[in-house]
Order: sequence, then C-alpha cells, then structure tokens
Amino acid sequence: MRSIPSISFDVNHLTLLPGLYVPAVDEVGATSVKTIDIRLCRPYADPVLTGEIAHTLEHVLATGLRRVDSGKIKVLYFGPMGCMTGFYLLLAGNFSDREAGSFIAEGTKIAAALPDVPAKNRRQCGNCETLRTMADVRPMLDRILKMAEKVVGSGTFDRYPD
Ligand SMILES: [Zn+2]
Repeated sequence: MRSIPSISFDVNHLTLLPGLYVPAVDEVGATSVKTIDIRLCRPYADPVLTGEIAHTLEHVLATGLRRVDSGKIKVLYFGPMGCMTGFYLLLAGNFSDREAGSFIAEGTKIAAALPDVPAKNRRQCGNCETLRTMADVRPMLDRILKMAEKVVGSGTFDRYPD
C-alpha cells in the first residue's frame, strides 16, 4: 500500500480560502483513493457551519454524490470536518482532477434538485429532529457547485496556500 501522507495538519489554516483541495492520495491495491477537502469557511474569519446545517448538507450531498452515474468514480465516504469549516469526500478510482470536479458538480446538482432532505426519520438517522430544510442548504450547495465548476474549468483542484 503506497500513500502520499496526509498533509492537512501542515496546511496554514490562517490563509486558507474556501475551495476544493486534495490533502491525500492513497494507493489501495490498484485503486487510487483521493481525499478531497471541500472547504466552505475561511478558518477564524467566517462563521463555522452550525451542526444543523452540516448535518443537513451531509444527508443531501451524500445522497446526490452517490447517485451520480459513473463507472469510474466511487464514493467511499462523505462527512463534515470536526472543525466545522468543511467536509471530507473520499473518492476511489483512477480519474483526473477534471473528472472528479465534474463528478462533484453533477452530485451537487442532483442534491440541489432533491425535493426533500433524505432519510429525515428516526429509523434512518440518529438525530433527525435537528435536520433543516432544502432551502436552508441550497445557498451552500450553490457555492460547492461553483467550486466544482472551477475545477472543471481549470482542470486542477485548488492548491493549498504556502
Ligand atoms: Zn442524520
């Protein structure tokens, strides 16, 4: 198993801007696993995500990303960062940055078009009464879509600040 070590603790969070970054690429057998940092808030500058908004985005985007019809890319994990300034998305497969950007854009569009927050019930979620509405998370979905479209346009993920 060959890995490029995770560098997220080496990132200067004081100059970090919202964007899509790749803090780690791990080779698992013949498959590449990319960790993607979906950074939504500037640390110590923007308000962090509330637990309710992060939880709702998790339900909505996990559903959208897993519904993308892709033979190349598989979602391994999607969830909020403990610091509440963004999310981690783990994608498996051999794909380019542009293909990953396109995948995230597509998943975000599917998420934004959902009529309701998925799995908003006690059987499927451990804290469903705190979930907000689609309207509450659409502005954030719009920001993620713009960040993904930027990756598609440039062909590369954003680079962490030096
Ligand atoms: Zn839940």
